[in-house]
Amino acid sequence: MTRHRLTIASLAVLLYLAALPFPLAAQQAKSQAEPVSAVPSPRSILRFNPGEDRTIADWKQITNYFSVLDKRSDRVLVQTLGESTLKRPLIVAFISARENILALEKYKDIQQRLADPRKVTSTLERDKLIKDGKVVIAVSCSIHSTEIVASQMSMRLAYELAVAEDPETKEILQNTILLLIPSPNPDGIDIVADWYRKTLGTPFEGREPPELYHHYAGHDDNRDWFMLNLKETRLLTRLFWHEWYPEIVYDVHQQGTNGSRFFIPPFYDPANPNISPTLLRQVGLLGHKIAADLQSQGYQGVLTNALYDTWWHGGFRTAPYFHNSIGILSEAASVRLMTPTIVTSEQLSRSSTRGMRSASEASTNFPDPWTGGSWHPRDIMAMELIAARSLMSMAAKYREQYLANFYELGKSNVERAVKPGEPVAYLIPAGQGRDESVARMLGCLIEQGIEVFRLEQELHVTYGPQVLKRINPANEKLGTYRTVVQATEMMQEVPAGSYIIFLSQPQRSNVETLFEPQIYPNRLTAQDEAERPYDVTGWTLPLQLGVEAPAITAIREKASEQKLTLLRNGNVVREDFALPIGKGELSPIKNPVPTSLRVAIYQGDTGNMDEGWTRFIFDTFNVPYATLKDAQVRKGDLNSKYDVVILPSQQATEIIQGNASGSLPTQYTGGITENGVNHLKEFVTKGGTLICFDASCGLPITQFKLPLRNTLEGLRSADFYGPGSIVSLDVESAAPSFQGLPPKLPGYFINSSAFAATDPRVRVIARYAKEDLLLSGWLLGEDKLRGQIALAETVLGKGRVVLFAFRPQHRGQMWATLPLIWKAIASSQEQSE
Ligand SMILES: [Zn+2]
Repeated sequence: MTRHRLTIASLAVLLYLAALPFPLAAQQAKSQAEPVSAVPSPRSILRFNPGEDRTIADWKQITNYFSVLDKRSDRVLVQTLGESTLKRPLIVAFISARENILALEKYKDIQQRLADPRKVTSTLERDKLIKDGKVVIAVSCSIHSTEIVASQMSMRLAYELAVAEDPETKEILQNTILLLIPSPNPDGIDIVADWYRKTLGTPFEGREPPELYHHYAGHDDNRDWFMLNLKETRLLTRLFWHEWYPEIVYDVHQQGTNGSRFFIPPFYDPANPNISPTLLRQVGLLGHKIAADLQSQGYQGVLTNALYDTWWHGGFRTAPYFHNSIGILSEAASVRLMTPTIVTSEQLSRSSTRGMRSASEASTNFPDPWTGGSWHPRDIMAMELIAARSLMSMAAKYREQYLANFYELGKSNVERAVKPGEPVAYLIPAGQGRDESVARMLGCLIEQGIEVFRLEQELHVTYGPQVLKRINPANEKLGTYRTVVQATEMMQEVPAGSYIIFLSQPQRSNVETLFEPQIYPNRLTAQDEAERPYDVTGWTLPLQLGVEAPAITAIREKASEQKLTLLRNGNVVREDFALPIGKGELSPIKNPVPTSLRVAIYQGDTGNMDEGWTRFIFDTFNVPYATLKDAQVRKGDLNSKYDVVILPSQQATEIIQGNASGSLPTQYTGGITENGVNHLKEFVTKGGTLICFDASCGLPITQFKLPLRNTLEGLRSADFYGPGSIVSLDVESAAPSFQGLPPKLPGYFINSSAFAATDPRVRVIARYAKEDLLLSGWLLGEDKLRGQIALAETVLGKGRVVLFAFRPQHRGQMWATLPLIWKAIASSQEQSE
C-alpha cells in the first residue's frame, strides 16, 4: 500500500516536475544516471555492428538503442518531438558534456538571444553570451530512406560520443551541443527495413522498395523546408527555428553508386544572392576541413565544388542559410541499400556531372580519384563518421567565432540600411479574399520563425515599382485602397486588418527569398544547351499561394505611431478570418467539391511523388478519393465505381507498361496494359471525367487520338528549357464549367507540356500568357511557350478529358491553381445532370 500513499507535498512536487519542459524534469533523472562505463555498444543491443553488410536496424531498434543511451549515459538526453505522418515517434538526441546536458535550458536561452540581437542590450551582454554559449550542431541522417546507412551510423556516432575519453572528444563535448536526428523520416526507415529484410537473399535484394518512402512525399520530403506541408518538417522546424537555432546543420545523404565516393561543399554555382558571403565562406571552410580530414585518413574519391548548388531554398541543408546558419551536405556513393556492390574503373570513368569531368580523372576539386573495387556500407559509414567528427571538432575549436558570426549575421539583417526605392516590408492587404490561402501563407511564415504583424490601424505606404505594375486599376481588389497624394510621392492607405512583414528582422534573407521573384541566371553549357539546375529555379511563395503581397518602400507613420500586433501562431490568422481551427489530425479546411462525386487517384503499382502530393492536397482539403491500382484499371468497369479518374503526372509508357517484368516481384510489374488503356477510354466515352496532370496528358492524347499535340515535344534544351518556374496563365474559360476564374493565374511549369489544337471540340480554359510570361525562375526560349494551351478540356463520347499541361498541385505548394482542379472535378456533376 505504501506506494500509493502520496503526501500532498510529494504530489505537488511531482505535478511541478511533470509540468516543466522536458530538460529540468529529465535532469533529476539524469543526476542518478549510471557511470559512463555502463553505456552499452550498439552491437550489444542489436546483435550486429551497425553498418555491417546485409544488416539493418529498423526504427524500433534505433529508437530503442537511443532510449538505452538516454538512460545509461549522462551525456545523452533523448526527446520525442512528436509523431511522424504514420505515427512513429520522431526523436532527437541531445549529446554533450554532462554539465551541459544538465543546463540545456540555459544554453537554449543563450541561443535564442544570439538568434535575435534585439534581445541583447549591450556589447557586454553580447560578449558574455558568446563566452558562455556552446555551438549547437544538428546532424540529420537518412531523410531519404533508401540512403539508409546514415541512420545506422547515428547509433555508432552517439555511442562514440557517449563513451570516448580522448581529449578531442572531450573538447567537442565541452564546447558543443549536438542535436542528433537518427532520421527525420521514421516511417521511411521502416518501409526500407521491412522491404530489405523481405527481399534479402532473393533476386530483388538491394532494390529500392516499390512504394514512396514517405507516405505523401517520397524523395520530396526534402523539398518541403519552406512550405512545411509535412508533419516531420513542421516538428523539426519548430525545434530548429523556434527553440535551438543550430549554428551548423549537417544533412547526411547518399548519391548514385558510380560517381565520386563522397561529395562535400563548397557547392557549385549559382549561389543564391540572398545568402550572406560570410555563410558561403563558412560552408566552404567546413567542407574543406572535412575533405582534408578524409584525405589525411586515406579516403579517396572526395569531391567538392560540383553538382549541388545553393540557389534553391527548400532543402534540409539550404533552409539554414536563410536562418543565418551553416548548412552542410554530404553525399556518399551508395551501395544497394545494405548490400555491398562492385564499381569498375570503367563505370567510374563514364560517370560525370557538372564540376566533375569523370570520376576517374583528377582535378583541383577532386584531387584523388578512387580507382574502383568493392564498396560496402561500412565504407560509407566510416566517411560519414569522419565528416561528423571533423565538423564537430572545428566547431569546438572555434566555438566563439561560430557564435559571434551567427549573432552578427542576425544583427546586420536587423540593422542593414535601406537605400531609397528598396523594399522595407511586404504587405498582405486585407480584403483580398482567398482567406484559406492567406492564412496558409502567414501560418507557414510564422512557423518558420518569421515575424508577422497585424495592422490594428491603417498605414500610409509607398509601393515598390514591381507592385505598382501588379496592382492595376481594373483590379477589383483595389477597391479597398484609397489613394493619398502627397506633395512629392504617391502614398496609399492600407486598411487595418492587413498584415505586414518587415525586412528588418533577423530572418531578413528568408523574407527576401520567399517573397521576391527569383531571377535565375542564364547558364548554358559549352554546347549552348541549358545547364540543369540542382532543383527548381522559382518558388516565390505569394505567387504559389495566389496571395497579393506587394513590397513597400516607405511608410509615412513613424514606428512609434504604428499600431501593430505580433502574431504568435497561424491560428490567430484563422481566427481573424473566422475560419475553423483544426482539432487533432483533421485539417479544418472545408471540402470544395460536391460530396456526391466519386473520385479516384491513379497510383499504379508503385505510385510516384506527383501522385503522393495529389493525395496530400486531397487529404488537406478533405476531398474523399479512392486509390486506383493497375490491376483495377486492367479489370475495367470503372464507371460503376467512379465519376472522376485523375492521372497524376507520369509518362504514358510508364503507366501502360509499368515496372519491367523481373525488376520487382510480379505484383509490382506490368502497368495498366493495352487493356487498361481501353478501359480508361471506355470510362470516358460512357460519361466519366478523366483529369490528367502534365506528363500523363500524353496517354489520352496518343492513345485516344485526341485532337491536340504537345508543342514542346522533341525540343532541345538549347531551344526551350523550363526546369521549375512560375509562369503566368491567361484564363479564357471557354468551357462553361470553368467560369468565374480571375483573368490571370500563376502556374507551375517544371519541364512541363504545352498544347496546340484547332479542333472545335477542344475548349481552351487557359493559355500560357502572351506577355510577361515568366513570373519567377528561369525560362529559355519563352516564345515556344507563349500563347500555347495550358489547360483544356475535350469531349469524348459522353465524357470529357481535362488536360493540365502544367502541375496544378506541384509539391503541395501551388495553392493558386487548386481551384482549377476543384472546378474540373465539380464540372463532372454538371455534365451528368
Ligand atoms: Zn538524398
